[in-house]
Amino acid sequence: MRLTRNSRAEEAIDAPGLMASIPDISLVGAPMALIGEGGEFLGANRDFSSLTGFTEPELKGMPLCMLLENAQPGKGASRGKSALTIKNGPAAHVSYTITQAPGTEISVLTVIPRTEARKLEEELTAKREELEKREKYIECFREGVLKMITDLDRSETELKGTLRNLQETQVQLVQSSKMTALGELSASLVHEISQPLTVIRGLTHGMLRTMKDSSEWHGKVRLIADAAARMEKIVKHLRTFSRSEPLVLSPVDINSVVKDAFLILNEHLLSHSIETILDLAPVPLALGNPNRLEQVVINLVTNARDAMPQGGVLTVSTKEEKTNGNPFIRLMVRDSGSGIPDDIVGKVFDPFFTTKESGKGTGLGLSISLGIVREHKGEIRVESVKGFGSAFHVIIPALSAASNPG
Ligand code: ADP
Repeated sequence: MRLTRNSRAEEAIDAPGLMASIPDISLVGAPMALIGEGGEFLGANRDFSSLTGFTEPELKGMPLCMLLENAQPGKGASRGKSALTIKNGPAAHVSYTITQAPGTEISVLTVIPRTEARKLEEELTAKREELEKREKYIECFREGVLKMITDLDRSETELKGTLRNLQETQVQLVQSSKMTALGELSASLVHEISQPLTVIRGLTHGMLRTMKDSSEWHGKVRLIADAAARMEKIVKHLRTFSRSEPLVLSPVDINSVVKDAFLILNEHLLSHSIETILDLAPVPLALGNPNRLEQVVINLVTNARDAMPQGGVLTVSTKEEKTNGNPFIRLMVRDSGSGIPDDIVGKVFDPFFTTKESGKGTGLGLSISLGIVREHKGEIRVESVKGFGSAFHVIIPALSAASNPG
């Protein structure tokens, strides 16, 4: 805006080098005016004129206090609220700022009608609130994501655990369905074979008694009698396997079971150059069947013997253990024999799995033992290193006071 020269304004503007410092307010899109050193209007832009209703010539020379009652031009900047005189109308309420143009005595007055100022303030507050809301939402979202990640981690661990359990259950299921099928098959086989076997055994024994040792047939009949004896052994195994004998459970001392088994086994082991270490700690009673548990001991020890054909050391130990506060009895049968190769260790409990030569192994010892131990709500675990021996652990729950009120 070019200032129309008059009175003190002209003097101010004529001061050397001053023009360069006076701001051009004509292009600014807000009501603005220039105020001289004495507080009089020097000029105004179009917005200021349309707000006040005074033309620029009318404004020139007018004292500032005639238009803005509270405003005081002076050195530096000032701001405030005031009533603004409007030509032919009621005064308007405005916010104003007065800033001194650098290096001059001239000030720039800017006014903002209060309603507009309030609107701006309200918009600012609304924007600030919106921003706070968004910040809270982002914080909340962040916490949600963190929780989801933690939940996901937990779910993954749980899932892995469930999968492991599922795999174990599947293995047990396969094992138990095999056992059930074989149990049924064995029951009918035992029934069919027992009688003819008794006949064969009775007859061969009768024949052997009447034959001379040197006779041509004596050796052949002896072979038949031995074969029948082996078959009887298998039938005896199968009878247990098919559960044709009723299971009667009573409080059992596992140490007595082991000692009873060794009454039969001791001599036998000695004749195979096997040194036996019995390490039987005092253990609580278990609810069990002593005959079947003895069979487990005999099966495990017989396998240990077979794994040490050149002799070795057999250790049988018992001890009490607690898992989650529940008492268990751990019976361990360890040998210093051949060990079990990694590729077959998972199969040793399978019915009819045997690595022994034909006629020696039935492949039923461990599957029967596992079946018996499971009847006692227990487990069998095997540890083995090929070439260094094996250890079979039988873990059976102890008879707690709660389950044995009598
Ligand atoms: P069997 O003794 O009639 O073969 P089992 O079910 O008792 O049947 O054993 C299955 C197989 O497990 C055995 O043939 C043998 O390969 C292996 N095994 C069991 N116990 C031992 C052991 N203590 N040391 C080495 N191998 C063993």
